[in-house]
Amino acid sequence: MSTTPDSTTDKNPPVDGSQLIRFDNVTKRFGDNVVLDDLCFDVSSGKHVTLIGPSGSGKTTILRLLMTLVEPDSGTVKVSGDYLFHEERNGKLEPAGESHIREVRKNIGMVFQQFNLFPNMKVIRNITEAPVHVLGLSKEEAESRARELLELVGLTEHIDKYPSQLSGGQQQRVAIARALAMRPQILLLDEVTSALDPELVAGVLDLLRDIAQTTDITMLCVTHEMNFARDISDDVLMFDAGKIIESGPPEKIFSEPEHERTQQFLNAIL
Ligand code: ADP
Repeated sequence: MSTTPDSTTDKNPPVDGSQLIRFDNVTKRFGDNVVLDDLCFDVSSGKHVTLIGPSGSGKTTILRLLMTLVEPDSGTVKVSGDYLFHEERNGKLEPAGESHIREVRKNIGMVFQQFNLFPNMKVIRNITEAPVHVLGLSKEEAESRARELLELVGLTEHIDKYPSQLSGGQQQRVAIARALAMRPQILLLDEVTSALDPELVAGVLDLLRDIAQTTDITMLCVTHEMNFARDISDDVLMFDAGKIIESGPPEKIFSEPEHERTQQFLNAIL
């Protein structure tokens, strides 16, 4: 992974084949608020990258951009070598059409803070819905995949329950299974334990550690759980005011941060 904290222009080196995610000069504003400020970074295939930093520094916006829930004002995002918001037509980069965006986004799954399960669907259907309707799997194939995933997340006996009949930790496990059912190359995790009762946090983090260790999925993770970040991350990106102010392996960022702002942030939360 490479990052370029200080912005001039065109700071990223040329694309190399292992880059699964690449942000080039991405700026995002909400009104006058510059939420991402000329941001450049890339993530190589199979890496686990954690985004840390104070509230409002732009971390979730990165994940929401990758899910195409928001669009950048300028700059480009590439996933697996394809532009996410643009298409090349006649040698020119133009805004992408719906089907192009849908195709690129199939590579990406996301787990949200508030689970976001479909409340009117049983657990099994929460997991099979997208594989059937987006990937075109048969109901039988999707159900067989869902059963395997429910075993992985330890919820086999809850297959026919509705989300409201499950604890927060169990709902979050279903949400993880639902994201994995699409067999994405990239898993985005947005503070996935922050809505959970404290006693349920460890179980969900253990499951994610397990997934990180046993699969080749690329993870981008916003978290305040620093022990978890230390355990799973290949790289940690420290955000402040829409910029990456420091990045590196967890042992460096957590033990010998260079930037004063990183030290302040870690002192405040550790
Ligand atoms: P973080 O994840 O680091 O806490 P976010 O990416 O959620 O930060 O938010 C960065 C900034 O963008 C915040 O100031 C937030 O209020 C603002 N923001 C995020 N989404 C919206 C939106 N849809 N409309 C207006 N402002 C937003």
